[in-house]
Amino acid sequence: MNDLDPKPRPRPAPRINSLRVFWNVALTGALLATLFTTWTPLGLMPYGLTDRFTEMFAPLDDSGLAAFPTATPRPRPRIGIVAGHWQNDSGAVCPDGLQEVDINLEIATRVRDRLTAAGFDVDLLAEYDDRLNFYQGLALVSIHADTCAFINNEASGYKVAQALGTPLLIQEKANRLTACLRARYEAATGLRFHAGSVTRDMTNYHTFEEIHHETTAVIIETGFMNLDRQILTQGQDQVAEGIANGVLCFINNEDASPSGAP
Ligand SMILES: [Zn+2]
Repeated sequence: MNDLDPKPRPRPAPRINSLRVFWNVALTGALLATLFTTWTPLGLMPYGLTDRFTEMFAPLDDSGLAAFPTATPRPRPRIGIVAGHWQNDSGAVCPDGLQEVDINLEIATRVRDRLTAAGFDVDLLAEYDDRLNFYQGLALVSIHADTCAFINNEASGYKVAQALGTPLLIQEKANRLTACLRARYEAATGLRFHAGSVTRDMTNYHTFEEIHHETTAVIIETGFMNLDRQILTQGQDQVAEGIANGVLCFINNEDASPSGAP
């Protein structure tokens, strides 16, 4: 060791800034406290805080989503089913009190249910329903039943008729709806077409005048309340099946010949 190799002087001890230490500790503590609180299970927090956190992390609710434009679903094609005499009068009445309107409404309701199940929007309409004015739909069927009076042993069966003055524009469609109803109704009920008694009351039916001129419409007399009473009161599901399948035959462009029944 020589003079050129001086003994290193001791380095001055670092000055401890007690104020800075205090703030470091305080800030670290505050940070840890915040983190700890953040990750505390929700169940351990006071109610108010739990709610606030739940709100903060909850997905957008419906009202929030409603602010965004949503795709408008295309309206489904409509079918009108009129329950004859409903909300107006009784229609034909049997000596024991059986009313045509009750038969019509029961059948029309079942037809509505079947067509709804097939994917259509169906309007169950009253005899003088306001919605009949300019009614627009793929088809409209008005359901009635024939007199309960005994006429003769031939007074059995059903009838389908379209308007007397059906516009040429939809004449062919009205013919097809009639053919489809005949084919499917006979297949479902076994009733035969009572061609002889299609009356002017049927072809001049007021509903034909009220609806939109492009709506294909027919009226069906489902049977005679006297001789066909059994199927009209106890076989309403068959009756409804025949009408609903007839409408579907028309809409789906099915083969309407009797042998074309599904
Ligand atoms: Zn009637």
